Amino acid sequence: MAENNFPAKHLTVCNFPTPFDGEVAYFELGLHRIAHPCAPGWQVAEVSLAQHGAEKQAQAVLETRPDAILIHVYRDRVRDALALADALAANHPETPLIWCGWTAHAPYLQAVSQATLPIRHPRLLLACGEVEAVVPPLLARIAEGGADFEALTETLSTVAWFDSHAGQWKGQGLFAQVPDVAGLAPVWDSPTPLRAHPGGAGWIEVSRGCKYACSFCVACSMGEGSVRPHHPERIRAEVAAAASQGVKLFGLLAAAINYDEQSLRALSESIVSRGAPDCRVAGTVHAKFAQGDRLALMASMKWETMIVGLQTTTAEAQRLMRRREERDVFAAAVERLRAFCVPEVELILGLPGDTAKGFEASVRFALSLPVSVSVYCLRLDPWSKFLEQRVALGLQADFANAGRVSALPGFPADELKAAGEWLRALARGPWRHRASRLMFDGTPIYSSRR
Ligand code: SF4
Repeated sequence: MAENNFPAKHLTVCNFPTPFDGEVAYFELGLHRIAHPCAPGWQVAEVSLAQHGAEKQAQAVLETRPDAILIHVYRDRVRDALALADALAANHPETPLIWCGWTAHAPYLQAVSQATLPIRHPRLLLACGEVEAVVPPLLARIAEGGADFEALTETLSTVAWFDSHAGQWKGQGLFAQVPDVAGLAPVWDSPTPLRAHPGGAGWIEVSRGCKYACSFCVACSMGEGSVRPHHPERIRAEVAAAASQGVKLFGLLAAAINYDEQSLRALSESIVSRGAPDCRVAGTVHAKFAQGDRLALMASMKWETMIVGLQTTTAEAQRLMRRREERDVFAAAVERLRAFCVPEVELILGLPGDTAKGFEASVRFALSLPVSVSVYCLRLDPWSKFLEQRVALGLQADFANAGRVSALPGFPADELKAAGEWLRALARGPWRHRASRLMFDGTPIYSSRR
């Protein structure tokens, strides 16, 4: 194995923006975390990879003369990132390419590359887990030079390296978490704050982790059942600093904002105290926590989007996804939430354990509520239990299409397709449901306002 003697000083951090305001703001937050607290001793250049082909992107990246390149990749950009890696491999294969973000998961990347582009970059490293936990030690090792990648993956358990000669991954690539969120640098209340996206959106991190561990969700990897909230003082300071940078729509980064009453109180007090009528929030809440003081705190804020996960009412699908919502409890919670916003109830088409009949029953139940209903097709996401168990569960998925499940036992491909068509036919009416809107894979197919 060759030795890597890099004069590692210049780090180029690359961003794949998306057309969606909220996602752009999310990516900027991810990049900010990497560029500012995570690369001490490195000179950081940032390159936006908007609207170019891979060749041009590689050229823009290499013009910054990097000693290492870092890309932060969301699910919908994995294929683009593989094309960029390919172009970089053709032009500058000796420069380490660090892939981070929640798609930094070797089995997932392997599945996507098999369905799309083979990995040819000889120095592609996955930094697995929360960027603050895994990127600094990896950059420190690269800056030291002298370590070959095989040795590096042997000593850093959170890194995986694709040995393109052997055609296999080396290293454990374990998901890393920061030991204590209190030690994290603020992103808004900092000397180099983010600015609000032109649409006024900005994310406030409230907590990390989740009380649940649904089998379809990346949150499984974040510590089953553990939630790590930020201190209320930090939440208040971040809200105030974000508002001073022009944020009006506060995206709440937390698996559910209503686990921790102290965090919810800090959010509510700091957002409501701004007194600006156009200050809104967007986030996910859990139906079973929507009561008592928590409900009153939620009601104090103006909600642009409130997502409430249901996913299915089919008992076997609930068992396999490891989360159960009782219909009557869920319906009662939604009625309470409806007093101050229109909750968006999420369902998933193609869950293991579900059937066409079960899916239809879930949709009809959700439509009987005074909500907006969003149906998504199941996708096998990085780090999820369903990805890990896909062979045992008999799941077939299209990894060239973001891991979308295409067939499963009890729900063959033709029935999955027919279920989508049934949903579209339902949207064409006649509309006799309480729900005011129906979305399918992010696109409205019925709205009472049309
Ligand atoms: S889907 Fe929601 S409740 Fe389930 S693990 Fe993910 S964040 Fe938690």
